[in-house]
Amino acid sequence: MATRTPRSHAPRATPAGPQYRVAVHSTHAHLFAVTLTIPEPALNQRVALPVWIPGSYLVREFSQHLQSLRASQGGRPVPLRQRAKNAWQAGNLAGQPLVLQYEVYAFDASVRTAFLDTTRGFFNGTSLCLRVAGQEDRPHSLQLDAQDLPAGWRVATGLNPQAVDAEGRGCYAAAHYDELADCPVELGNFWSGDFEACGVPHRFVVSGATGAFDGERLLTDTRRICEEQIRFWHGEDKPPFGRYVFMLHASADGYGGLEHRNSTALICQRADLPKKQTEPPRSAAAQVAAPALKATDGYTTLLGLISHEYFHTWNVKRLRPAEFARYDYERENYTELLWFFEGFTSYYDDLFLRRAGLIDDATYLQLVMKTVNQVLQTPGRHLQSVAQASFDAWIKYYRVGENTPNATVSYYTKGSLVALCLDLTLRAEGRSSLDALMRELWVRTDGGPMKEADVARALRRLGGRSFERELADWVHGTADLPVADLLQRHGAKVSQDKAPLAQQLGLRVAESNGTLSVKTVLRGGAAEAAGLAAGDEWLGIELPAARRGAPVEAWRLHKLDELPGLLGPRQRFVALVSRDRRLLRCTVQWPAEVKALRLAVDDAARLAAWLGTR
Ligand SMILES: [Zn+2]
Repeated sequence: MATRTPRSHAPRATPAGPQYRVAVHSTHAHLFAVTLTIPEPALNQRVALPVWIPGSYLVREFSQHLQSLRASQGGRPVPLRQRAKNAWQAGNLAGQPLVLQYEVYAFDASVRTAFLDTTRGFFNGTSLCLRVAGQEDRPHSLQLDAQDLPAGWRVATGLNPQAVDAEGRGCYAAAHYDELADCPVELGNFWSGDFEACGVPHRFVVSGATGAFDGERLLTDTRRICEEQIRFWHGEDKPPFGRYVFMLHASADGYGGLEHRNSTALICQRADLPKKQTEPPRSAAAQVAAPALKATDGYTTLLGLISHEYFHTWNVKRLRPAEFARYDYERENYTELLWFFEGFTSYYDDLFLRRAGLIDDATYLQLVMKTVNQVLQTPGRHLQSVAQASFDAWIKYYRVGENTPNATVSYYTKGSLVALCLDLTLRAEGRSSLDALMRELWVRTDGGPMKEADVARALRRLGGRSFERELADWVHGTADLPVADLLQRHGAKVSQDKAPLAQQLGLRVAESNGTLSVKTVLRGGAAEAAGLAAGDEWLGIELPAARRGAPVEAWRLHKLDELPGLLGPRQRFVALVSRDRRLLRCTVQWPAEVKALRLAVDDAARLAAWLGTR
C-alpha cells in the first residue's frame, strides 16, 4: 500500500531491493537453482544465509546445502570470498547490478528447511534466500515463473502476489527480508480449498492426500477454529492479517508445524486426515443421535496442530519475546519466555477445539490428562525450570538424546500446565481469567514485544494481587504444580491410576520386528537400580527356580507387555540384555506401584464455566 507523501517534499524513490528467482533445477537431484539480483549493491557486497529459522530454536546450518555459488556483474565474473560458514563477500563494484547464482540441495521433508522431488517442492526463505547485508529492510521480490517449474505445478504462499497467473506462478513481493523469510512456499499439484473466517479469506492446500481425503470436512472444522480465535483476540474487529494460508503435507508418519505471520506449514500422518464416508447416508434421526462431533484421535491431533499454529499468529509472531523484536539470523536468539509462547499456545490449542465444539468435555480432559502424565513422567522437571528450559532450548529441547527426559522439562507441556494453573487460579479467585490476561497483554504491548514483567504486571492488575510467588514457583521453580487440586475445583474428577508398564519400570523402550530395545532409563527408577542402560537390547528374562532343585526358567522377550504374563506374582527377575555385544544380567526388583493421574468429567456446569462453553 502506498503512503501519502507530505506536499512540500518530493516523493523519495524506494531503493531497489534484492530480487530472487527460484527455479526447479532438478527434481531427481533435489536441487533448486536460485538467481539473486542485487540492483544496487554496496562495494564488496556481503551476503549470508541464516543459520536458524524463527519458531524452531536450533542452529541448523542451512548453508550446508548451498553449492556452486558464483557472482557476476555486467556479464563478467566477480570473485567471491567465503567469510564464515554461511557468509560470502563479492569483489564487486558499487552501483551496477550484481548477480549471484547458486543451487540448494532440498531433500528434508520437514517444515523447517526445503524439499524437492518429482511429487512436490517446498521451501523457506531461510534455506534458499541469501540475505544481502545492509539491504534487509528494502523491498524484496520472489519470482516463481511457470517456465522454471515442472508442468502443472502450482504455487501457494502467504507472500503478496504482484503479477501471478491462475496457478499462482509469477512474481511475489515482500516488504523486507523478514517477511520473505516468514512466508514459506508450497509447490506442486496440491489439493486446494478456500473459506472465509470473520470475513478474512483463508486458503488450505494439502499435498500427499489420497482420494479418500474429505477436504470439505477439514475446511469446515478449520473455519470454526479460526473464527473462535479471531473473536477471542478481536471481538467483532478484523485480525492483523488480510489473508491466511495453511500448507499441509500428509505423509506416512510425519508430524509437525511451523508458525508464520499469515501462513503455516504443517505435516501430519496421512491416516489422520478426515475421510469421506463410504457407508450410505444415515437417517436424519440417526444423525441427530450421533452429532458430527466424533473425530478420530488422529484427526483430533491434526485439528490440535492447526489450532496451535493458528494461535501462534498472535502469540509469538506478533506478541513476542522482547529478544525477538528483531531476529538475529546469524546466531542463537535466547529467551526465557518459551514457556509462555509455546506453553500457553499449547494450552489454548486443545481448548479452542472444545470451544469450537469439535471435541467434548471428556475428550478435552483426556488431552489434559495426557499432558499432566507426560510431565509427571519426566524426572528432569525437578532439575530444570520452564524458564531455564526456554533459554536452553537450543542445546537441550531440540537436541533430543537418551538423557533428555532426565535432564530437561518441556516448556510445551509444563508451560501449558502453568497456563492451566494460572487460568484456574484466576477463575477460582473470581476476578479474572487467562483469556483476559492474553487480551490485556495484547492491548498493553500493542501486539508486540513483551517481557516477563509485563505478564507479572497484567496478572496483578487483573487478579487484584501479586502473582510473584506463583511465577517464582511455577515458572522459575522445579516443584510439581497444583494441577490436581485446581482441576478438582473446576469440575474434573481426579483419581490415581496405574502407570503404563514401561513407566513403572522406569524405562522408555522401542519395539520393532520382535526386538525390544531400551531408549531411556529414567532417573531413580527400577531399571536404573538394576543397571539397564540406554541402547541395551533386552533379549529375555530369567526367573528364580519355582522350588529348590527345579531348573531356572528363562524366556525370550519380544515385547514389553509379555513381561507380566511371564512373571506371574514374582517381584524379582533377571533381565538378560545385550550391550556392545556382551550379554549382561541385570537383577530387577519390581517397584512399588508407580501412579498416573486419571481425569474424568465430574461437574459439567463448572467445567463449562472454565472451558468457556456455557
Ligand atoms: Zn508452537
